[in-house]
Amino acid sequence: MSTVSDKRPASSAECDPLAQVADALFRPMGVKGVYARTALYVQVLDCLERYITQQRDPSAEVMRFPPVMSRQQLEKSGYLKSFPNLLGCVCALHGTEASIRSAVERHDAGGDWTTSLSSSDLVLSPAACYPVYPIVAARGRLPAAGVQFDIEADCFRHEPSAHLDRLQSFRMREFVRIGSPREIVAFRERWMARAPLLAAELGLPYSIDVANDPFFGRVGQVMAVSQRQQALKFELLIPYTATAKPTACMSFNYHREYFGQVWGIQNENGEPAHTSCVAFGIDRLTVALFAVHGLDLQRWPSTTRTALSL
Ligand code: ATP
Ligand code: ZN
Ligand code: MG
Repeated sequence: MSTVSDKRPASSAECDPLAQVADALFRPMGVKGVYARTALYVQVLDCLERYITQQRDPSAEVMRFPPVMSRQQLEKSGYLKSFPNLLGCVCALHGTEASIRSAVERHDAGGDWTTSLSSSDLVLSPAACYPVYPIVAARGRLPAAGVQFDIEADCFRHEPSAHLDRLQSFRMREFVRIGSPREIVAFRERWMARAPLLAAELGLPYSIDVANDPFFGRVGQVMAVSQRQQALKFELLIPYTATAKPTACMSFNYHREYFGQVWGIQNENGEPAHTSCVAFGIDRLTVALFAVHGLDLQRWPSTTRTALSL
């Protein structure tokens, strides 16, 4: 008699077309959604980064952030109201030598050393752009044309998953624009018109759609509806396989005057600045390239190879 399990393919690669891709790109590190990247993966990721650099506005200021940021700054940014469930906080053993030693001894005896941890003044950055707003605010009023940035950080979100496109630790690059409402709306519109051209050049199927963030809890549902109604977030979605639900690989966010008000960023005339960010999910885009074009770089479409200087 055959059972359901008898009919299952022998290896996960047979039932999940992405499993083979995963084996060539990632090495497990013992925790879901946290991976070592292989040389093949990094080769393409580096090419993609250079390609994005070519798209940068010449006036953009470049900054690279570490994977941690000030806890107090993230609290002030309102993150706990929106996504407390996703946040990771850095904890440490802050006690005396004796209390730290006793925590270690508890571990040695098979107990739990982590009960002695307490929070530090750092959190793991959940998105690349949060640290940029206080930096700009500290510089005083904006110049007449506003400012823009090219920033990047390795981000953390507590959303463990077995899926290749939902990692706990992933890289996010962003172009951030801060200025008058007119400049900010124009910036986002320009990027929403441009992103499809980039996707086409990379040979990736895509769609662009209005989106909402997965705000936490019941109050969050109201925030999500309002974000959608005001069309504050759009995403560029790429299907990894012909039948897969498309994955958000870029987002185009308009925060209105929110960060301008929180941080006191003022336009030339003293009004709260508006802000927008265009986020590139570097890992999701890299996985998309392999999922769509395969593992053999020599066989990728020539437009893709040319765009990426492969
Ligand atoms: P999703 O709805 O798929 O969770 P998001 O709306 O939370 O995405 P953003 O906050 O807009 O994503 O982050 C910017 C970009 O960072 C996303 O478009 C995506 O490409 C990437 N990103 C977000 N979360 C993850 C994750 N868990 N793993 C890998 N990349 C991610
Ligand atoms: Zn951002
Ligand atoms: Mg998310």
